[in-house]
Amino acid sequence: MRISMISEHASPLAALGGVDAGGQNVHVAALSAALARRGHHVTVYTRRDATELPARVQAGPRFEVVHVDAGPARHVPKDELLPYMGELAAGVARDWGHRPPDVVHGHFWMSGLAALDAARRPDSGYRVPVIQTFHALGTVKRRHQGAEDTSPEERRWLEPGVGRSADRIIATCSDEVFELKAMGIDTGKVSIAPCGVDLSFFSADGPAAARTRRQRILSVGRLVPRKGVDLVIRALPYLREAGFDDVELFIVGGGGDSGALHADPEVRRLLGLADALGVADSVTLQGQVARTEMPGIFRSADAVVCAPWYEPFGIVPLEAMACGVPVVAAAVGGLQDTVVDQATGLHVPPRDPAAIASALAVLLADPELRSRLGTAGVQRARTRYSWDRVAAETEKAYQLAVAGAPAGAISMEGAAL
Ligand code: UDP
Repeated sequence: MRISMISEHASPLAALGGVDAGGQNVHVAALSAALARRGHHVTVYTRRDATELPARVQAGPRFEVVHVDAGPARHVPKDELLPYMGELAAGVARDWGHRPPDVVHGHFWMSGLAALDAARRPDSGYRVPVIQTFHALGTVKRRHQGAEDTSPEERRWLEPGVGRSADRIIATCSDEVFELKAMGIDTGKVSIAPCGVDLSFFSADGPAAARTRRQRILSVGRLVPRKGVDLVIRALPYLREAGFDDVELFIVGGGGDSGALHADPEVRRLLGLADALGVADSVTLQGQVARTEMPGIFRSADAVVCAPWYEPFGIVPLEAMACGVPVVAAAVGGLQDTVVDQATGLHVPPRDPAAIASALAVLLADPELRSRLGTAGVQRARTRYSWDRVAAETEKAYQLAVAGAPAGAISMEGAAL
């Protein structure tokens, strides 16, 4: 198949760990590469966010990234990108010319708008089947972030509209299907395909990074409040009280748009909190870490904590499991599917530092339990979450979209699919 992906803010080529660069970037990059390995031709369209970017980059065999001019050629926060989606769609349609792809797959609601716009231009003569992965839903974000949600107002009606108009939706976890249903979307057209993990890269075998304390708790991710890193810091005094006083909390990610760690208000907030709680000497904020270093950092940890308020999927727990490290996970969103309570990690209620501390205490005190959960995590990651498997499931959704959509039915001569 010829597959177009649209990922407006999340380039598969971007560095990870900044405010808007995380799981979606990994997802689009790894899924595209895995689909290309299956023989498909994949083009990812993303917004040009720096002047020096070349128009086209060959990211791998049969896998190309195209930087489309849409809005200013600099970083623009993703919640401010809506006005440029028309330009993005026009750039994509221009690149297709009279040879549209077999499917177009939008990532995030705004890319979904661009995908629908490019796929169904009245004067084009073609109608390309549209597959949509939301990655995150405005309804969930609003529920948890309230007034802090910086999404544009239009998301309230445009996002469900994308859901209704897309030929097929790929949800990344079962929880998302309930949310889609609540948004009034026909779940008959929803497939579930999770995110995956690069198993040749994230594995339990290999060197571990050095650590400064006897035991290490690890937190990885973009430093935004909803990731709940403050909750992990708040768990530290409880752990100390329970006698775990040679434990380090190593925090990877952060640095904001500029990448400068101490200019990041969230970093300052977390350091201030650690100070106020008297645990600053146990907390290391490492900032953004290159992907190449991540497996060694995972292996250096006794436990990884993922304590978000909500989580559309969460690739970090999968990476931890693939590296053989048990995960303490808030029982929300995708984490309920990936982390199996008492089998590959321990579930805790959301927003509960005392529960995080209790779970960590159980793990830190019991090397055998850690090893058992870690081994089961490797097994689960290997059997269920390889990108090859995810790509095969995604391909099935594409086939359903192609079969179900009246693709080419309104085509003009010479412009049919
Ligand atoms: N990540 C990284 N370096 C960092 C911070 C994060 O490589 O400094 C990676 C992390 O390993 C994971 C991704 O960014 O692959 C975060 O994905 P996740 O789904 O957990 O969170 P999201 O950012 O999508 O909310």
